[in-house]
Amino acid sequence: MTNTLNDRLTRDLSGRATNILRALGAELPPPGELPARTPITGGLLTTLPATMPADADAAIGRAAEAFRGWRTVPAPVRAAVVRRLAELLTAHKTELGELVTLEAGKIGPEAVGEVQEMIDVCEFAIGLSRQLYGRTMPSERPGHRLMETWHPLGVVGVISAFNFPVAVWAWNTAIALVCGDTVVWKPSETTPLTALACHSLLRRAAVDVGADPEVHQLIQGGAEVGARLVDDERVALLSATGSVRMGRTVAPKVAARFGRCLLELGGNNGAIVTPTADLELASRAIVFAAAGTAGQRCTTLRRLIAHADIVGPLLRQLENAYGQLPVGNPLHEGMLVGPLINESAYTAMRSALDRALSDGGELVCGGERVDVHGDNAFYVRPAIVRMPTQTGVVRDETFAPILYVLTYRDFDHAIALHNGVPQGLSSAIFTADQREAERFLAADGSDCGIANVNIGTSGAEIGGAFGGEKHTGGGRESGSDSWKAYMRRATNTVNYSPDLPLAQGIKFT
Ligand code: NAD
Repeated sequence: MTNTLNDRLTRDLSGRATNILRALGAELPPPGELPARTPITGGLLTTLPATMPADADAAIGRAAEAFRGWRTVPAPVRAAVVRRLAELLTAHKTELGELVTLEAGKIGPEAVGEVQEMIDVCEFAIGLSRQLYGRTMPSERPGHRLMETWHPLGVVGVISAFNFPVAVWAWNTAIALVCGDTVVWKPSETTPLTALACHSLLRRAAVDVGADPEVHQLIQGGAEVGARLVDDERVALLSATGSVRMGRTVAPKVAARFGRCLLELGGNNGAIVTPTADLELASRAIVFAAAGTAGQRCTTLRRLIAHADIVGPLLRQLENAYGQLPVGNPLHEGMLVGPLINESAYTAMRSALDRALSDGGELVCGGERVDVHGDNAFYVRPAIVRMPTQTGVVRDETFAPILYVLTYRDFDHAIALHNGVPQGLSSAIFTADQREAERFLAADGSDCGIANVNIGTSGAEIGGAFGGEKHTGGGRESGSDSWKAYMRRATNTVNYSPDLPLAQGIKFT
């Protein structure tokens, strides 16, 4: 009976996905070998063809050809495509958000928030199109001008992860397009339908403003399809978002052909809670950062480093809040924790919890599976585990809602614990002590790409550069001066004098 109901629900969700794709103007491909599943029931929404190697190569070729024209279109004119994309995204925000929920399992508000993030980065890119500034430097030679100019780079390959199936694409694509690059996108094989929708909206935007739609190409499939972008010399920049394991494979290959890599890899984000912290504010921020998106954000809070004097009351607040978290179908209003993406995410969570307990950890709450839509859907209660020390399992990123709690007495020890993991994406401190806050942000404080005070580790705005250090890969995307990764720089010296003075006063007569 339950199975029948779940099958019926999957059919309903499949119909919804198809209707959304139609409403977004996406061409539905014929059935193929690539399954599109929904984590809501674990059922199959549809299948579509994976891109064959020769077709992926051809797509790169089309992007390379389109680049030849696109690079000479003035940047503010290129921005028209991005402006139109933002309009289309605004018009279809609800539908695209629902598709994200169907495919990635995000609760409604987070899914729509992800689409809003796409619109935000489009707006940023439109303004940026008039601000691709180069500098002019004083020349040491009379009658000379010394300056830097920025030029389009070429084809940008974008490999993205399942958990931000649309925003990460927009971060890269909106910026790359105004910078004069063309894009070939290989989305996660887990989220091919949202990719189809975005691709179709962008091509429509290009057509609507009279630009070449070939500036964007979509190739679909797993690692073997992504590998075409990794190995192809025509791909000038590979922007790869995903696990450290993936980054370890692709980065050396791109380096070996002297290509550029922008890596946005796994995080293992920590927050320090000091004795002066506002515990009420801290616990609200911690619950969102640790349990939101069912622990499947790169910026999810995974390690809580709490002062011994407040760890007891803080844990009581967290346990109480975790006990009230609604876990279930992310399409339902009021739901806060949706499903894990698939069974292997659940297996990884179980095995991390087992490791933590055998390392002396004490389960505070959560970790159990919740039956929402049958055996093929993987819903869990977010877990909190108190750890005696930062053992191996705590140093790994497990892409699931597990919050490890460590205790400190001395602030230097807290910083050492915080920085004592291989990853370096996001971090936070909760304190009312300005010395501690400033120390956390200083050179000998947090070693992460993102360091926050009195706010959680997740939920970044697009205006700042996003990315992390160490095994997170060092890339920066989205706001600030991240655009520089998508362009090449030329240093130009212009001699407007009748003489030929050499630099460093060298005489060559
Ligand atoms: P994943 O590494 O399994 O896959 C990511 C993408 O890489 C997919 O498109 C996949 O097909 C592709 N891929 C994998 N191996 C490849 C190879 N050898 N060659 C070419 N392509 C390859 O990651 P996932 O499970 O989809 O996502 C979760 C991971 O992504 C987590 O580690 C998370 O922290 C990370 N992530 C990081 C950021 C960030 O900005 N730092 C953002 C989102 C997700």
